[in-house]
Amino acid sequence: MPDGLVHFGWLALVLGVLLLVLVVFGYQNHRLRRRLGRAERPGRRRAEHAQDSREAILAALAEGARLLFNHGDRQDVLQRALGALGRAVEADRVYVFENHRDPVSGRLLASQRFEWVAEGIQPQLQNPEMQGMDYDEVIPNFRSSLERGLAVHGRVEEIPEPERALLLPQNIRSIAVVPIIVEGQFWGQIGFDDCRRGRSWSSAEINALGIAAATIGAAIRGIRAEQELANLANTDSLTGFSTRRQFLKQARAAHAEALSRDTSLALLVLDLDRFKAINDGHGHLVGDQALVWFSRVCRQCLRQEDLIGRLGGEEFAVLLREIKQQQAMAVAEKLRSCLADSPMKTGNVEIRMSVSIGLAGLVKGEDSFMGMLERADQALYQAKRNGRNRVEAAPDGLNPAV
Ligand code: GH3
Ligand code: MG
Ligand code: MG
Repeated sequence: MPDGLVHFGWLALVLGVLLLVLVVFGYQNHRLRRRLGRAERPGRRRAEHAQDSREAILAALAEGARLLFNHGDRQDVLQRALGALGRAVEADRVYVFENHRDPVSGRLLASQRFEWVAEGIQPQLQNPEMQGMDYDEVIPNFRSSLERGLAVHGRVEEIPEPERALLLPQNIRSIAVVPIIVEGQFWGQIGFDDCRRGRSWSSAEINALGIAAATIGAAIRGIRAEQELANLANTDSLTGFSTRRQFLKQARAAHAEALSRDTSLALLVLDLDRFKAINDGHGHLVGDQALVWFSRVCRQCLRQEDLIGRLGGEEFAVLLREIKQQQAMAVAEKLRSCLADSPMKTGNVEIRMSVSIGLAGLVKGEDSFMGMLERADQALYQAKRNGRNRVEAAPDGLNPAV
């Protein structure tokens, strides 16, 4: 995958944070000049406060710049960007909520995904009320503004019910919430809490927060594109299993981990029997349907955590972690019999399929996963030679390490 795309998400975010900080900095500088102008008359205290404020903004600017040169993981970058934002606008809490639908009722819900809190402020990320919050029940007034692309802000005591009932127990004195729009859709919201002062937000601040929300929206769009590309590269489109390359990558890691932690591991290599005859007899399209059918049978028989890969054509591999040899043999046998007993019906024809399976266990001293794959492959050929529709274990696998 091109590096540019991989880094697009955080780059957009970081650049946006810098832009935001510059906007806020310009605005604060303007305020600072005004305050200093006044300070000459009423005395030094105002000037000192303004100096503090200026330093805080400068620190945020420096932090934004540091983000640009420090390529952490995205989660971390977002977390720190929220911190830079929070400090720049002197908020106590900054958070991002993502919208989603209730799978049963279809109602619009919001769940908190990221949060930054100032020192001494109670985080809310673990608060169960912040997950699956029903817009129409809990924040209906916010919904109507946010959906129209408008920010909501003000002192909590002036905010109508039912929102006030949600905000007061969190000790929020003042709040600003800005919608995040992704690809024209109301994706979620970014919020800023002030827990110490019942301040009102100026239009310059709300504009700056709008830029933050737009930036986060752009970053999310980039992250989505990146995830879609990663999925395309790593997932076989027909079966939904890992591609050969992705499977081998995951399997090498699991193999190294099992050796270092001294846990058990088993590999199955599967090849559909006489598959060419299905294509020849029913056409390639039905052959494709048969591969999808097989993938469903695999999912039904295997555990969620088992790694499944399509090695190529009608050949697959399954990596079973933390499983003893006897159990692995039972899993392979179950998979084999499930497929043999579940003919695929298409139109008015019934297509019977079978699979041959080679099994290899972990062998101490065999450092490479490829050795395990080679042994499972040989066991598979043995299964084919012995008449197909059967499971054979590699000789080394009969004397496994664990
Ligand atoms: P054996 O029992 O020895 O494995 O016999 P076989 O016919 O399965 O073996 P062979 O390797 O000769 O044939 C594999 C067939 O799988 C040939 C190929 O056209 C078919 N195949 C591979 N990938 C796909 C696919 O994505 N879709 C379809 N429909 N057929 C595929
Ligand atoms: Mg085959
Ligand atoms: Mg084959």
